[in-house]
Amino acid sequence: MKSKIIVLLVVMLSALAQAQVERRDHAVSATGLEVAFPDGFGCERIASPYASSTRYDGSSRRGDRNGGLHGGIDLSLKVGTPLLAIADGEVITFGEGGRLEGIYLWLLHSPEDTGTPFHVFSKYQHLSALPALKTGDRVKAGAVVAHSGASGTVGRHYGVSGYAHLHLTTFYGPSAEYEVKGMFDSMVSGRDSRMDDPLVLYAQGLRDLAEVRQLPEPRRIVRPAVVGSDGAIHPPGGKTVWPVACKEPGAR
Ligand SMILES: [Zn+2]
Repeated sequence: MKSKIIVLLVVMLSALAQAQVERRDHAVSATGLEVAFPDGFGCERIASPYASSTRYDGSSRRGDRNGGLHGGIDLSLKVGTPLLAIADGEVITFGEGGRLEGIYLWLLHSPEDTGTPFHVFSKYQHLSALPALKTGDRVKAGAVVAHSGASGTVGRHYGVSGYAHLHLTTFYGPSAEYEVKGMFDSMVSGRDSRMDDPLVLYAQGLRDLAEVRQLPEPRRIVRPAVVGSDGAIHPPGGKTVWPVACKEPGAR
């Protein structure tokens, strides 16, 4: 009798979990991609990678969306750190989102912008202030588009002061068409686009997303271009750029 009730409970709970997945969650799985920076450059590394079950401090993401797995990458940054366009692109929208989201900015990058086969939708979160941009503005790779903050991170796990970081999410799709959705107009839904690891942006020679998880080991190392303290992109002409400037070789 008791075991029947338990079985019933388990069935009900898993149905609930399923409904949750369909409503707002994305299927998240690790890509195995790793980032390498140009020789000698000191760059901010990823504090919590895509599909990680833990936060920057090793604490569990249990209870968060996407099956408790991270839907982006986190970089731990001081409030006010300049955030850079990860490629040439266009400003889709920005605003103040809800809890866990904070002030956000969405950019859209075309295949010509990135040199990838995808239309890439990028979302920067937890900004310190609304960006000084207009919807429809074109931005250049490596240009400052916003500043990092702790908005949307205050309370619960993060405590009263919050945790200043960039959360970067990317969606990849075959089309530049999108809708802006959600209670705070903070969800951009690109037609047939899929959320995936922001590091996919930096992978060379991809044909499609399915290929990402089958890359041979050497191709799993991705090499973003970086902006140095001189403001220039290294290597010159790099189209897809790390979202935070790096210290140049020899800089202190
Ligand atoms: Zn995050």
